[in-house]
Amino acid sequence: MNQRIMSDNVVIVGAGPVGLSAALFLVAEGIPVTVLEAAPVLPEDMRASTFHPATLDMLASSGIAAKIVAEGHKATQWQYFRADTKDAAIFDMRVLADVTAHPFRLQCEQFRLTKAIVAELQSHPLFTIHFGATAVSCDETADGVRVTARIEGRDEAFPGRYVIGADGAKSAVRGWLGLDLVGETYTRTSITVVVDYPFERHLGEMLYVNYVWTADDHYSLMRVRDHWRTGFSPKAGQSIADAVADESIQAHLNRILPSRTPYPLVHKGAYTIHKRIADTFRRGRILLAGDAAHLNSPSGGMGMNSGIHDAAELVESLVQVLRGADDAVLDRYSRRRRTIAIEDVQAQSDANYKRHREKDPVKREEIWRDLKTTCADRDKLRAFLMKSSMIASVARAATIP
Ligand SMILES: Cc1cc2nc3c(=O)[nH]c(=O)nc-3n(C[C@H](O)[C@H](O)[C@H](O)COP(=O)(O)OP(=O)(O)OC[C@H]3O[C@@H](n4cnc5c(N)ncnc54)[C@H](O)[C@@H]3O)c2cc1C
Repeated sequence: MNQRIMSDNVVIVGAGPVGLSAALFLVAEGIPVTVLEAAPVLPEDMRASTFHPATLDMLASSGIAAKIVAEGHKATQWQYFRADTKDAAIFDMRVLADVTAHPFRLQCEQFRLTKAIVAELQSHPLFTIHFGATAVSCDETADGVRVTARIEGRDEAFPGRYVIGADGAKSAVRGWLGLDLVGETYTRTSITVVVDYPFERHLGEMLYVNYVWTADDHYSLMRVRDHWRTGFSPKAGQSIADAVADESIQAHLNRILPSRTPYPLVHKGAYTIHKRIADTFRRGRILLAGDAAHLNSPSGGMGMNSGIHDAAELVESLVQVLRGADDAVLDRYSRRRRTIAIEDVQAQSDANYKRHREKDPVKREEIWRDLKTTCADRDKLRAFLMKSSMIASVARAATIP
């Protein structure tokens, strides 16, 4: 490897879906990367289950999209469903077939993406990954950075031209910049339960993605490769500890489908959810992407997707700079993706959060009429899906100066 290419090394902190997507895109451009991951092995993170069309399109040329599509389920239709009346508002994504090669929501856990990327890159000469490497500090040098990581109790320095902080919501890299995530925390915790039970055999009306209103509450029911997962919030006045207790989870599952025997639980987790953002995604040679830069409600499945879109835009900008362009394009990266995070991702997921949790019967009727009208009118449906599939926000980002 020649000296110039080695000196272009980019250090990526965090081997989540955003850090590894950035690695994938950089290596495809001939830029060497060093990924530092605190965990001893790739985390089997169950949080994200939905990949949107815009993201799959970005992952297509590397072959990764095809690999994860083969590991999940294609939801060509998804729905809002009223458990009390059995009425459905069905969103058919095939109306997007002329604008995306992937006119469906892919239902697949996020760890299948990270595993697929590492499998793809691990023998590539431009890719290095260190597990058990916790990034602790960074110095900016005249023409680069030196990231220090603690590995087995020793400090080791990793030089590079730039560092990408893709180290999640509690980002150490963001801390080095003295930045906080500013915003609010939602009042309702999100509980996710993965169940090893073939709901599809008994609930014929369910699709792969379902947002369900019961008479006085809501839940989601989603398919992942081998299991179903359901998301819900604690009842009013219920503690989180009580809501995640096995009896409460079994009671929730029995409301979905009564069962004489306990459901086999594969995983359960309680997540505090936020609408927060950093003031900037760039300072000098230090860049932020994904959850390190912004957080949103998981309703609608946009956090990881938007982080991967950050990675794509950031890599495009870094490649230009490494090839001689003015580094002002990195400020443009921050402007573009920060605007999209606030005005598209947070705005849509906040609307979803509120829509899913609406309990007022009058407001529910209004929402329901809107949803049904949207699904019945091809132009309205297309406009809605262009946004929810995140195709519109990627196109819009490119127009932000
Ligand atoms: C219940 C729930 C459901 C969700 N569903 C969806 C969905 O369907 N679709 C969607 O798009 N999004 C979804 N999300 C959001 C999604 O999970 C996150 O947006 C996504 O994981 C962010 O990816 P990331 O790579 O930025 O950060 P992370 O996935 O958090 O990865 C960060 C990595 O950095 C490592 N790290 C941390 N600190 C250091 C350090 N100092 N040094 C080295 N390594 C470090 C961590 O170990 C971790 O591996 C959901 C979230 C929740 C809570």
